[in-house]
Amino acid sequence: QPTRTPLIAGNWKLNNNHLEAIALVQKLAFSLTDADHDTAEVVVLPPFTSLRSVQTLVDGDKLRIGYGAQDISAHDKGAYTGEVSGPMLAKLGCAYALAGHSERREYHHEDDAVVNAKVKAAFAADITPILCLGEGLDVRKAGGQVSHTLAQLDGALKDVTAEQAARLVVAYEPVWAIGTGEVATPEDAQEVCGALRARLAELYSAETAAATRILYGGSVKGDNIAGIMEQADVDGALVGGASLKPEEFVRIARLGR
Ligand code: PEP
Repeated sequence: QPTRTPLIAGNWKLNNNHLEAIALVQKLAFSLTDADHDTAEVVVLPPFTSLRSVQTLVDGDKLRIGYGAQDISAHDKGAYTGEVSGPMLAKLGCAYALAGHSERREYHHEDDAVVNAKVKAAFAADITPILCLGEGLDVRKAGGQVSHTLAQLDGALKDVTAEQAARLVVAYEPVWAIGTGEVATPEDAQEVCGALRARLAELYSAETAAATRILYGGSVKGDNIAGIMEQADVDGALVGGASLKPEEFVRIARLGR
């Protein structure tokens, strides 16, 4: 069993201008100790407009906080107004980019083919995609959460090589639990995360599956992170609302301790 370093990633969504971003990262840096950083990898995902400021702060003060983008273009360059490419994000030092967040799927009509193109664009730029998957309430009520989420995984990983897949991060985020205060039980999270890992073993290899970090996302807080992290196939969390509150996010980064 390889050790998978827990990953706690804060998705700020459409919040914080670059000055607020600097203040929030400084607060996190002030509170997080070396022991905390040894326990879990901590990453923030600010809006594009803050990435340069965060890069300057993290590099200048040699902070152990990672950062990345909330989205990535499927294209490297060209006539794609409003988009930001993998090479641009890599140049800003982004280690991660979300791909297929449910809000992108819903409000920007990103389907599995688009998400697949974004995952491949991230790998091509040496950025680790955090591939977001998860079912809506109707699917959950019908008991289809595993088949739905596995189908999204298959679609997003089309033509992704084993070598690339070894660096992938997957985030299982049941849509009904995002921003609602409704948390999946640790057992619900484990059911789908375990199924995702089994599918990665089928698609690639047992080694790849064992090395891939699978996160849970959906109303994660300081109070519920410990139970979620106890699950065998949950390796961290993608945190939305609570990542905007420095004290709460630090508690989550400490895995509830
Ligand atoms: C998210 O947007 O990825 C998320 C998990 O949000 P929240 O923690 O607010 O539910």
